[in-house]
Amino acid sequence: MTTVTALDAERVDALSASLSGAVLQAGTEPYEAARRVHNGLIDRRPALIARCRGVADVAAAVAFARETGLEISVRGGGHSIAGRSVTEGGLMIDLAEMKGIYVDPRARTIRAQGGVLWSEFDRETAVHGLAVTGGAVSTTGIAGFTLGGGLGWLMGTYGLAADNLLSVELVNADGAVLNVTQESDPDLFWGLRGGGGNFGVATSLEYRLHPLREVVGGLVAHPFEAAKDVLRFYREFTQSVPDELTVFAGLVYAPGSSDTRLAAMVVCHAGSPEQAQKDLAPLREFGSPLMVELGPMPYPLMNTLLDDGFPRGALNYWKSSFVEALDDELIDVAIEQFAATPSPLNAILIENFHGAVTRVGATDTAVPHRRQGYNLLLPSVWLDSADTEANIAWTRATFDLLSPYFAGRRWLNYFSDDDGTDAIRAAYGPNYDRLVEVKRRHDPENVFHLNHNIDPGGGAGAKPR
Ligand SMILES: Cc1cc2nc3c(=O)[nH]c(=O)nc-3n(C[C@H](O)[C@H](O)[C@H](O)COP(=O)(O)OP(=O)(O)OC[C@H]3O[C@@H](n4cnc5c(N)ncnc54)[C@H](O)[C@@H]3O)c2cc1C
Repeated sequence: MTTVTALDAERVDALSASLSGAVLQAGTEPYEAARRVHNGLIDRRPALIARCRGVADVAAAVAFARETGLEISVRGGGHSIAGRSVTEGGLMIDLAEMKGIYVDPRARTIRAQGGVLWSEFDRETAVHGLAVTGGAVSTTGIAGFTLGGGLGWLMGTYGLAADNLLSVELVNADGAVLNVTQESDPDLFWGLRGGGGNFGVATSLEYRLHPLREVVGGLVAHPFEAAKDVLRFYREFTQSVPDELTVFAGLVYAPGSSDTRLAAMVVCHAGSPEQAQKDLAPLREFGSPLMVELGPMPYPLMNTLLDDGFPRGALNYWKSSFVEALDDELIDVAIEQFAATPSPLNAILIENFHGAVTRVGATDTAVPHRRQGYNLLLPSVWLDSADTEANIAWTRATFDLLSPYFAGRRWLNYFSDDDGTDAIRAAYGPNYDRLVEVKRRHDPENVFHLNHNIDPGGGAGAKPR
């Protein structure tokens, strides 16, 4: 791999001169801050970090990397659990300063740059009483999230984030700037809606917006001892929920506690307050909850309810899979395993797919996961590196024990660093071959390979260096 030596100093100076943003090198405080991402397990050292301020900076950075042979990584919001936004020894194209957002309230559209986070996006759309499906946690970046599909609280009503994309401004492997739409290049636009960062750097993304000011949301928490009944109730309840109601179930610890486990349901209802009152009645009435905190709130607030459970810099190792059904045996295994989890920030979450997200065809976008049902997520989070081995071992063991119930389909955005070939196939599913074709056409040399990679050679996912 190419590294920056004294011989290259002249070229680095030339890159610096050609960017409006800074070029950061090791040994400086801004470099140390910029190479750190959300997942504290990721500890890689790019040779250079280009803090781009606009599309011209990104194009110059891509051209520089191609000339010098440096590996490229692209950082949007920095939330990749696998740490794919940070290269070891290459050029990190860092979009964190690209925060431009423009809402067109009459057309109900938004264009936002690649470094925008969901909290920033929501703030601007809320001014106009508009919204679109964003992350379940507001600190996530819009770019990596949307390119990977993007599931969240509003997916029953509006579909995935990727389903709402209208265009993407993309710097491709040649450093050219494209405005990709359904009309300009249907194949590439299709691939950008779920194919991850495989086709270039998305410098800005344009979305359709929907009128939405408030939701009825919050949390219902039951004692852990009632977990079996709660998860069985959840299974029945979610069989016939309206589009507007999305409920995720979870085995979690009480916030701030290291000994109180809970069986919880997190709720978001995007319909009218009257409809919410009616639809949420069974949730309020079921069992003997310790807490029912449900009420009207601005949508941006809904998007922050889980933020505290995912502190920046904490250590993360995640596993997830869609399941065939929420069998009684699956529920039993999950409860048994959660009783022995080594970190109070760990959880076992169940995400319900229904409504608008399931009415898009499996091959209409690059995201094939359109069946009604459930995605099971083990988002393991801990604070002390001494606990890393125990937490990774627990997550892997729990994932293995639950695997008999898996549907063979995986959610791309949740991959960890060790999710390889099989996981990538399970994420792209029937769309893999078409994605390979699009990749061959737009990035035959696999310049953009630090992602959940589509191998232009048709092999099953190149391993990042
Ligand atoms: C706390 C937390 C909560 C999450 N919640 C959800 C959720 O509710 N739903 C969901 O679907 N996912 C969720 N995720 C997963 C998240 O969507 C993915 O990790 C996503 O890739 C993050 O995007 P990012 O821009 O923040 O990440 P980054 O780490 O910056 O990038 C992730 C990947 O996308 C590529 N990429 C980023 N920006 C660009 C760009 N502008 N152009 C081209 N490629 C780019 C990177 O190269 C990398 O491969 C969550 C993750 C975390 C840590």
